[in-house]
Formats: sequence, C-alpha cells, structure tokens
Amino acid sequence: MNTAYLGMPTFPRAAAGSVRDTRLRANLTHATHTIRDKRAAAVAEIDDWARLRQAGKDIKDRTLRHLDHYLLQTERAVTAAGGQVHWAADADEANRIVADLVRATGEREVVKVKSMATQEIGLNEALAAEGVAAYETDLAELIVQLGEDLPSHILVPAIHRNRGEIRDLFREAMGRWGRPAPDTLTDRPSDLAEAARLHLREKFLRAKVAVSGANFLVAETGTVVVVESEGNGRMCLTLPETLISVVGIEKVVPTWQDLEVFLQLLPRSSTAERMNPYTSMWAGVAEGDGPRAFHLVLLDNGRTATLADQVGRQALRCIRCSACLNVCPVYERAGGHAYGSPYPGPIGAILTPQLRGLQSDVDASLPYASSLCGACYEVCPVAIDIPEVLVHLRERVAEEAAGHRRERAGVRAATWLLDHPAAYAAALRAGARTRRLQPERLRLPGAAGSWSASRDLPRMPAASFRDWWRAHRARPRDARHGEGGPGAPPFREGGEAR
Ligand code: SF4
Repeated sequence: MNTAYLGMPTFPRAAAGSVRDTRLRANLTHATHTIRDKRAAAVAEIDDWARLRQAGKDIKDRTLRHLDHYLLQTERAVTAAGGQVHWAADADEANRIVADLVRATGEREVVKVKSMATQEIGLNEALAAEGVAAYETDLAELIVQLGEDLPSHILVPAIHRNRGEIRDLFREAMGRWGRPAPDTLTDRPSDLAEAARLHLREKFLRAKVAVSGANFLVAETGTVVVVESEGNGRMCLTLPETLISVVGIEKVVPTWQDLEVFLQLLPRSSTAERMNPYTSMWAGVAEGDGPRAFHLVLLDNGRTATLADQVGRQALRCIRCSACLNVCPVYERAGGHAYGSPYPGPIGAILTPQLRGLQSDVDASLPYASSLCGACYEVCPVAIDIPEVLVHLRERVAEEAAGHRRERAGVRAATWLLDHPAAYAAALRAGARTRRLQPERLRLPGAAGSWSASRDLPRMPAASFRDWWRAHRARPRDARHGEGGPGAPPFREGGEAR
C-alpha cells in the first residue's frame, strides 16, 4: 500500500468530514459538471460510439484472457528494441527495482510524468527514503506535490483546489522546490501556467533520469504509449538519459490496430477532446534520439489476483479516463481523498479493494461507497459494469472481512434454525408465550444502534401461522372466514396479533 494513505479512515468517516467542507463541494461540483457536459458533447459527435465501446471491451477481455502470452510478447519486443524488462510482483519489489536503477546512474533526482502506477506503489516516498528527490511535472500533480497533499481525481489530481488556492500555494511553496513563483503572480490561468512552465523547465533541462507510467503497451512491437495534454510528458520522455517506465500488466494491447480503438475512446471520455494534444510512443532506445537507456518495470501488485475473479476482473479493462468519477453523485459530494487510495470514485471503489485485498476496514468499506445508480456504467468507454462488481465485492466483504463476523454468525444461526423445523416451531412458541415481556425497541450495540434506534420491534403474534392452521383447518369454510369469527386468523395487517 502507498504509505501516504496509511492511517486513512474508512470511507464513511472520511466522507462525513468532506461533505461538511462547502468550499470543497463547490470546487468539485463546478469541475465535474463542466467536464461531464463536455464529454457528453464529444461522445455525441461519434455515430458508432456504442460499437467503438463494444470493441474496446472485447479487445480488453480477449487480451486479459491471454495476458501471459501478450506480456511475454511485449518482453521479447522491448528487449529486441534495446530496452530492458523487469518484473515486479508487488509494490516493494517495484520500488526496489526503480531505486536500484536510479542509484546505478549516480543521480539523486528524477523527473516524473504523471503515473497512477507509481502513486499506487508509493514510489516518491520510497525514493525519498533512498535520498532521491522525485519531481512531479504534470501541472496538477505539481500542485498536489507543492501542497504536500494527496491527489483526489484520476485526471485532475488537484480538482479540489480553486485558482486562488493554487496562486497562494505557488507563491508560498515553489521556492522551496526550485525556481520561485513571481511575487506578482495572479490567479489568471495563463499566469499560473507560465509560473509552472518556468519552474518545470529548469527541472527538465537538469534531470538525467525520468520515471513515467504508460497508458498502453503494444505487444507486437513493444511500444510504450503515453497520452497527455501539456507536453510535460514529451519533455520527460525525450530529454533525460535514462527512462524508467512503471506500467501495470493490464495496460498491454496486442496490436496497433487495437490501439486505434483506445486512442478514440480515451480522449473523448477523459478531456472531451477528439484526440490528445500529445501522444508519445517509444520502443526501446534509438541511436541519437531520446534516452540512452530504457527500463520497463511490469507491475503486478494484485492484478493477477484480480484477474482470477471472474466478476471482478473487468476492473482491469479500465483505461483511467475518469468519466465515471465525473458523473458519480457520491464522488461529487465525498471528494477523492475519502477513498483512501490513488484510485478514487467508482473505479477506485472496485479496483482498490481488489488490488489491496479486503482485510483492512478502509478497503472493506469501499464497495459500499456507492448508491448503485449505474451512471458510472453508462459512461464507461470500456463498459465496466461497476455496480455489478460493487455488489459482488459486498458479498465478498460479508464473507471475508473481519467487520462482518457478527452478521455472519447471525445468518449461520438463522440458517440452522430454518433447517430444523422442530426447533423453529419451539422458538416461535417461546416467542409467542413471552410476547408481553418483549420490548418495543431492541437496542443493538455499536454501529447497529443507529439502525435499531429508529425501528420498532414487530410484536409476536399469539400463535404461529402453523399452529393456527393446525387448530382451524378442520373447521367449515364459512366458520373459518367469518369476519371476527372464532376461526379468523390471529393476525392484523402489519403482523400484529389480535
Ligand atoms: S472505470 Fe471506465 S469510466 Fe471509470 S476511469 Fe475506468 S474506463 Fe473510465
């Protein structure tokens, strides 16, 4: 787990705090509504969006079914192109590989292009522990780093900050990390972008090592693909002497023809653009062009376990477009930090508990961070049925997670009782005989208390239906059904005994 997220409260507790933050809610509502409207317009331009979406889903599913084959093909192609492939089973192994590679260059700093995978493994913290400074170069990631904050959105990590906050942050913190912001800095977007540009340019020109993620890996040629909007990625990927890319194993696509589908689905779903302003592709190293050394770290970190779950594995189709976050009513109110993971929103609620397991209270709370309204499924460009996976994970939480032991014990006791008719009848009779002693409310302990406090306990009838039936079934039909007659059933509407 990323150490930055250790000690986070469960989703309901974290969300309770963020929904009270009116500024945060205003920032989130403004940003998500703006992006979702633009996305809807961009998608509506494509006549065959539904077919494109189906194609994306099918390619991902087929690739995941033969993932071992395509990963080995990728390794062969990357090696043939002069790169080196490293396999990392978990976050610790990936961090150790990257730290060793950086140390081997003799450098003490790296520039980074936005990478969810490195956030997932806590690479910045791991490098800092080795004395290596990692500088984020994506504008939103830079804002998060300067503010010693955590990202709260997949695409716009600083979505929870408004322009005034960013101006204050640049003025206060930029100087501590490198070139300071001008004292006269305003909150105009162009001024903020220029301050960031000058600050980052210094880092790009100095850095000898870069760390990147990737949006896709093309197996047939070993090509790594990064799409972005600012050009910072292009600088990271071409200027340094050593390039280390940390990529989740699910990012592979078999062929360039397959890539074509995703290069249409992703920009419209994420930034509502017809195509990404910058699409960088590289395979290994090329004489006289770009980095002299290239390392590809293929990251598992829970993905193989996720692949083994026949319902949950569809989360691995995700292309991190963030469309599901922007339509989610829960995300809009709770914000990204409440999810306790680099992957917030609906996709985070199904991906994080699968990658990290359901053992912690935080991870066991995530499948419940949804109203199951289905808006996330509607917009997902690779048709991940997020509500289906949420319900599936809730079942797993009830089965596996420690917090549901009492519930499981209750269900087991009820199952036994219903399986033993004599014991069930005896329990009903005992309940009927003690009905006058039973309280109107059952005060349950702990979290269940808030549920029971607002509910009346139904009163037991004077006799069970079976006993009543046994006593009255021999009576003539008219006597049994007479209004208020001696054979009338012992129940009124609502189950109360007469
Ligand atoms: S789950 Fe679908 S909508 Fe959400 S980020 Fe992934 S691809 Fe985009």
